[in-house]
Amino acid sequence: MQAGTTIFEHMSGLARAHGAVNLGQGFPDFGWSDAVLAAGAEAITTGYNQYPPMRGLPELRSAVCVFYARTQGLALDPAQVIITSGATEALAASIMAVAGAGDEVILFAPAYDAYAPLVRRAGAVPVFVDLVPPDWQASRAAIAGAITPATRAILINTPHNPTGAVAGAAMLQAIADLARAHDLIIISDEVWEAVILGSAPHVSLFGLAPERTIKVGSAGKLLALTGWKVGWVIAAPELAERAAQVHQFLTFTTPPPLQVAVAAGLALPDSWFAAARAQFVRARDRLVAALTAGGWALLPSDGSYFVMADLAASGIAMADREFCEAAVISIAQGGGGVAAIPLGAFMPDGRATPYIRLCFAKSDEVLNDGAARLNAVRLRWQQSPGLAAGE
Ligand code: PMP
Ligand code: GLN
Repeated sequence: MQAGTTIFEHMSGLARAHGAVNLGQGFPDFGWSDAVLAAGAEAITTGYNQYPPMRGLPELRSAVCVFYARTQGLALDPAQVIITSGATEALAASIMAVAGAGDEVILFAPAYDAYAPLVRRAGAVPVFVDLVPPDWQASRAAIAGAITPATRAILINTPHNPTGAVAGAAMLQAIADLARAHDLIIISDEVWEAVILGSAPHVSLFGLAPERTIKVGSAGKLLALTGWKVGWVIAAPELAERAAQVHQFLTFTTPPPLQVAVAAGLALPDSWFAAARAQFVRARDRLVAALTAGGWALLPSDGSYFVMADLAASGIAMADREFCEAAVISIAQGGGGVAAIPLGAFMPDGRATPYIRLCFAKSDEVLNDGAARLNAVRLRWQQSPGLAAGE
């Protein structure tokens, strides 16, 4: 992989080059609303094309408050909402607002690929606490053990990319308690809050510690429009103000026609969100069933667009990155392979793991094709370990 290129960009590029089925980068083939697309198109032609207010259009900031009151019981005021260019910018603004040179930020490993680079760009040091498989939780003792006098923030992601795990009540409460005891900020990346696939509902850390939590959201995930890059920061007014101070010199504003359309999307009824969720559950179940029948060992996924496969338990004695680099170009019947994401890309120092991440938010046809190819690759490499890509 080229230095400086994200694993998602790298694998999507290889998938295009080799005609592979792309189960790598997390974007869906379905799940959005045509009415939201129409609202965006209309906003462009009706004058929403000049700089909006720096903190976001008032109609979207209000819509965010109404949405979270309705879906998560949070009592928010628009003064607590800053609209950003995706969750990525919300994370950058939040991290830079609370951590600088000499500070430490606690991250959980595996960690979404942007976290550690953003912490380092802020001049701070990432300190990792391992999430422990198979349920990918961290204990109170492990989190407490990572806190030092230099710690400023704990960054948590639930539901979790890449594992699909949902943080349990014990882990969430431990983070809230420890943050209070040590006067830390919690940055809570909840972009997958609507893509809940199991029975456990989403629990926001903002509800547990509203005075010190920065909640990060993304319309890209809520409305299945990942390319739109509309996100937000939600925090107590003074904390939101600190994030706004950073946001104004990162991107300043976010395209207003998309803000108008996202406001319309957040006003969709609960039944729309439930139907979208049901589509993702069906897609997960389809991929899991097809791969399980082909002998793959998969881990449970309770949220996000992702499910993880265990290479070792599937009889494949290869490291994750080596497998992904080979599988994207190799397929027994010729033609392209399958793009997946190595878990190592989310680990500190890129350490090798036996896990790969698969995106199941795809059409039935793509899932059937992807699973057939992965099953063929597994059979071939299990029978002849050591076969190189393309053989
Ligand atoms: N955080 C997590 C955990 C994600 O999975 C993603 C994207 N999949 C982001 C942040 C970035 O979101 P956005 O595209 O809105 O910047
Ligand atoms: N967040 C998406 C994923 O995890 C990809 C985002 C990106 O390409 N940077 O696949």
